[in-house]
Amino acid sequence: METENIFDVDKLWRKALVEIELLVSRANFVTWFQNTKINYLKDGVIFLNVPNSFAKEWIQKKYDKFILKSLRRIDPSIRSIDYIIHSNPIDTERRAPIKQVFKKTEDTQDTQLEFTEFYETKDSLNPKYVFDNFIIGSFNELAHAAAIAVTKKLGLAYNPLFIYGGVGLGKTHLLQAIGNEIKKQNQNTRIKYTTTERFTNEYIQSLKTNRMYEFKNNYIQYDLLIIDDIQFLAKKTKTQEEFFHVFNALYENNKQIILSSDRSPKSIPDLEERLRSRFEGGMMADVSEPEYESRVAILSSKAQEKNFDLSKEAIDYIASSIKNNIRELEGFLNILLAQSRLLNRSLSINEIEDLFKKTSTKSKKKVTFNQIIKTISDFYEIKEQNIFEKSRKKEFVLPRQVAMYILRKDFNGSYPYIGQKFGGKDHTTVMHACEKISKDNKNDQKLKNDIQMIRDCLYK
Ligand code: ADP
Ligand code: MG
Repeated sequence: METENIFDVDKLWRKALVEIELLVSRANFVTWFQNTKINYLKDGVIFLNVPNSFAKEWIQKKYDKFILKSLRRIDPSIRSIDYIIHSNPIDTERRAPIKQVFKKTEDTQDTQLEFTEFYETKDSLNPKYVFDNFIIGSFNELAHAAAIAVTKKLGLAYNPLFIYGGVGLGKTHLLQAIGNEIKKQNQNTRIKYTTTERFTNEYIQSLKTNRMYEFKNNYIQYDLLIIDDIQFLAKKTKTQEEFFHVFNALYENNKQIILSSDRSPKSIPDLEERLRSRFEGGMMADVSEPEYESRVAILSSKAQEKNFDLSKEAIDYIASSIKNNIRELEGFLNILLAQSRLLNRSLSINEIEDLFKKTSTKSKKKVTFNQIIKTISDFYEIKEQNIFEKSRKKEFVLPRQVAMYILRKDFNGSYPYIGQKFGGKDHTTVMHACEKISKDNKNDQKLKNDIQMIRDCLYK
């Protein structure tokens, strides 16, 4: 069977993309599917245009079955897919609509800045961040592959490379690993690692001292410019403008730019459109939270690095307790190591559990009741007061129950206390709510994700 009518294959592909978009992460979707198009369909074989050989290899390896399944659901006569490299300039009009799932309302700036690490060398690269000690799992596989690709074709493969994901998931490590790798390859490559905060401060300083020219000249001399935490450009109009010029100067000369952010370009508030489209114009890759196996691998590798003999049981306990932040995983390992050295013996599981409880409640205590309510109502897009109302409307009941559950689980709030906070509700009502969410949280994947996102927002 041959479909000659181009509209048929376009329509077919659009339908398949709708399904694919729901099943892959935003970054994966943009990276791999945005610039694809069915070229033609002949004898049950789809000829699919992909932008380059890297994309071809990756899509074939990762998504072939998956794409075929989506296509066959629409047209069962399709048997296979052939990928054709077809480099087309990015056609922004054809981009699929972007779904913004969750807008963070709190200002992450304060909590994150303390993590900015600087190494006082000319390039500011910390030699401990290398590929060799970077564990790869499905949570960061795409970002890692993209990073490696950049080291092989600096300035020519993916420019800019935009890595994004939550706090403590290895963005800075990965960014600096690229820098260190390039440095190893060629000592003469001019490399600079900096943070957006530092970039901004230098820019302000240059304004004050009338040295803007030097400021810009300094930045455009690099072959590789790495800027961490670019989300802090949000709302900084003047710095954005300056950065735009630096970006263009480097980009036009095929100099590599690598950026990281805690969220996708689309979700950075008040980011100039021209910058956003540039950020999205190269390669975007996300890092998500490590799955259990990766957490075990990371812990084992870090323990080994530190010559710390940890039992399988201990590793399992830590990997099951700390789920969404590699920095915390490492931090807790350090606490255990210090304690074990102090006592000059290994720790029992009970001791490890005690230490965990002591250290983990600390960070949560900083969160206030009002912040919890605000975060949850923002998340569910209802008004804060709705949470407290007597209404039994479904759209208010769930957020209310989730709030109670979080207060109970994460803050050890007593049932009567929580009841009182919610306008004098009986403690059995609170108990019922907590039990219900507890149960649903095990079976309902959507609820599970929602609660995870709320917690991320509260505690990160
Ligand atoms: P982010 O910049 O995303 O906040 P970092 O790069 O600072 O996160 O990572 C936090 C800590 O976790 C660092 O010490 C880093 O070395 C470690 N880390 C993160 N990802 C990995 C990984 N995949 N393998 C090994 N260590 C990792
Ligand atoms: Mg970082």
